[in-house]
Amino acid sequence: MRPYLLLTPGPLTTTDTVKQAMMSDWCTWDEEYNLDIVEVIRKKLVEIATSHPEEYTAVLMQGSGSFCVEATLGSVVGSTDNLLVVANGAYGKRMGVISEYYNINYHLMRFEETEPVNVSKIDTYLTKHPEVTHVSLVHCETTTGVLNPLEEVAAIVKRHGKVLIVDAMSSFGGIPIDMDKLSIDFMISSANKCIQGVPGFGFVIARRSLLEQCKGTARSLSLDLYDQWEAMEKGHGKWRFTSPTHVVRAFMQALSELNAEGGVEARYARYCENHRVLVEGMRALGYKTLLPDEQQSPVITSFYYPSSDFNFKEFYLKLKAKGFVIYPGKISQADTFRIGNIGDVHPIDFVKLTEAVKEIMAE
Ligand SMILES: *Cc1c(COP(=O)(O)O)cnc(C)c1O
Repeated sequence: MRPYLLLTPGPLTTTDTVKQAMMSDWCTWDEEYNLDIVEVIRKKLVEIATSHPEEYTAVLMQGSGSFCVEATLGSVVGSTDNLLVVANGAYGKRMGVISEYYNINYHLMRFEETEPVNVSKIDTYLTKHPEVTHVSLVHCETTTGVLNPLEEVAAIVKRHGKVLIVDAMSSFGGIPIDMDKLSIDFMISSANKCIQGVPGFGFVIARRSLLEQCKGTARSLSLDLYDQWEAMEKGHGKWRFTSPTHVVRAFMQALSELNAEGGVEARYARYCENHRVLVEGMRALGYKTLLPDEQQSPVITSFYYPSSDFNFKEFYLKLKAKGFVIYPGKISQADTFRIGNIGDVHPIDFVKLTEAVKEIMAE
């Protein structure tokens, strides 16, 4: 069922059992679907996200991860609110673009794509701008693989008493995060990242008391997070509009497999080992990472082109023929390519990958 491994930031390599879970059809109003699958998923997501599940709730939303980021900003940040968007990559900037579409009062605070965001600059900005009501941040910027200092940013945002919205798309389920401990109010991720499901929906884990205040704030019907949540709460897992039933079934299977692996801590350990094997192997072949090790997430790694005449397309096709699909770079300052460490991929796969790279270099 897999001609090659996807070493990409999502969709990523899934298990055969996750794919097999999609081989039957489900009726959206049947209790077997609503109560046994959707409600169980919502409960499980909250349990993964926080040590105080009673204070949080989960909403699932059709579409890709960006739909959920848009649904959150558009349903949580009201017309008289003020949003600080902290950005050091494409996904942070996208939150600025969304704010533009929604006419949200916002300030885009930009940092270099090759560095984590600067906590003291955020602190200074919030001191100077008491009108800010919400702050949004990307945890792992998949653009480069840089891991932002979520704990430190969260502490500052909390000290200033602002609502914190975190795009944890490529880290939730793969890197331990406790929303309660960090005082995160809204956290967004999607089915096809570290939970290792297939694409088709995203989800938002929200502080219940804050989400309850968002009735009527949304400027989009389909992306009204409050309305979607209310329908799910009252309907015990009912989606407002047609839900991606097969994808949801696959996600349920993926959650059981996360549990069987030993939960988020165990998955994090595997991703770290994947990353370590990858980087050691590539460095031994002369490749250099874009980021210093201490800023690097275990999710995805950017490598510089090994020479100025490096042909990425050719390299990509040769690796694909050997069973590995990698990702192009996404930044303008340097010529890079990216290799993902997440999904149903294991340290041995990265040993094989670096052997394949070595063979290609010897050709
Ligand atoms: C994948 C990802 C998204 C969502 O991207 P989609 O293409 O809409 O699924 C958002 N933020 C980050 C950090 C991501 O890695």
